Amino acid sequence: MKRILILGGGFGGVEAAIYLKKNNYDVTLVSDRDFFYIYPTSIWIPTREYDFKDVCLSLHDLQHAHDFKLIIDSVISISAKEHNITLKSGLVLQEYDYLVLAMGASKMQHKGIENTLSICGTPEQSLEIRNKFDALIEKGSAKVCFGFGGNPHDTSAVRGGPGFELLFNFHNLLKKKGIRENYELTFFAPMAEPGKRMGPQALKMMDTFFSRLNINKHFGKKIKSFEKDYVLFEDDSKLESDFTMFIPAGSGHTVVKDSDLPLNAAGFITTDDYSNVIFSDETMPTNIYAIGDIAALEGYEWRAKQGHIAEVMARNVAHNIKEREANGTNFKGYHKHLNILCVMDSGDGAAFVYRDEKRAFMFPMPYLGHTLKKAWGKYCKLSKLGKIPRIPGM
Ligand SMILES: Cc1cc2nc3c(=O)[nH]c(=O)nc-3n(C[C@H](O)[C@H](O)[C@H](O)COP(=O)(O)OP(=O)(O)OC[C@H]3O[C@@H](n4cnc5c(N)ncnc54)[C@H](O)[C@@H]3O)c2cc1C
Repeated sequence: MKRILILGGGFGGVEAAIYLKKNNYDVTLVSDRDFFYIYPTSIWIPTREYDFKDVCLSLHDLQHAHDFKLIIDSVISISAKEHNITLKSGLVLQEYDYLVLAMGASKMQHKGIENTLSICGTPEQSLEIRNKFDALIEKGSAKVCFGFGGNPHDTSAVRGGPGFELLFNFHNLLKKKGIRENYELTFFAPMAEPGKRMGPQALKMMDTFFSRLNINKHFGKKIKSFEKDYVLFEDDSKLESDFTMFIPAGSGHTVVKDSDLPLNAAGFITTDDYSNVIFSDETMPTNIYAIGDIAALEGYEWRAKQGHIAEVMARNVAHNIKEREANGTNFKGYHKHLNILCVMDSGDGAAFVYRDEKRAFMFPMPYLGHTLKKAWGKYCKLSKLGKIPRIPGM
């Protein structure tokens, strides 16, 4: 039986384990945490609508449901050439026929980043943001800034949506408590038109949201540093902030940057459309795949690293390995599945955002959207555990 080693237990890694097991391979998954973290629903932790555990799915439960092997440990180095994966415990994994890399991305480093928290950082940061929100509410009034940054080497690694969502949810929380007018909320980003890749209609709609909800905009100035109580910009102007929630753009995973894997300028692993890692040196192995945020995403200017794309890549890899083993050539690629798809939550409703090669639109879904996103979170857990059937493509 062929042995497949998967590194990472997020959207990509878990989906790959589930689908490779369906093909009866000997699958081992390595993850540095013992739970699969459902990032899209983590936006409700800081506002106390969800507990931390609501957003986690035990990898042990997934292991029992799908019968893969599980190692909870941290990958500290990868040598593709030597066929060596070294874990923090000292264990060295060498016995695999195929390697699937799915460890996500690291983050761009900004000066003073320790003065911020990110909803897209380690899962535990959502709890720290919750504590900050509690303290800000206790204080009775405050200036609070939400923002995201860019990566000049790879625009697909920019993640702004959860920043908008958290801001709208915080606004709603304050409104519910009847204290919204005591808080100055600002959204900031270094680009002139943050959210532009969602399409022109979405950009206009976001503008309307900001005006209607009395949220200040601070766009188009590069960030110099984050200080304790302000954000400093390139022209030395300051944005006062009692608390700054900032999402740095993604950059290549630090372990991958120190490896012999081929990388793009931002440090993401270069692959072909079939997620097969492509080395320029022909003596290097051909049995390595990279999926999800760890991989360089090629294609449209508006392309974005998203969970559902990680899952498409994972299912493709399961298919492509099977095809390869059967000496076939009917491989599946991810390019034709590239789109932006999200239900952007606002606390009391949501907006449906969609973009592909032909269309770009956003439409409001008052109340229903919020319920729909929550229902998706439940579907995500139950379907991955095999307790309910999968909806094709989801
Ligand atoms: C707040 C938020 C909201 C989002 N909303 C949406 C949305 O609505 N729709 C959508 O499609 N996408 C959304 N995304 C994006 C989506 O979550 C990511 O694209 C997706 O998580 C990528 O999956 P991945 O498997 O590549 O990486 P991850 O999900 O980040 O998983 C990486 C895994 O690797 C493990 N790992 C990392 N380093 C090591 C190591 N050294 N050793 C061992 N294990 C390691 C981690 O513990 C983790 O299990 C959102 C992201 C965030 C942060």
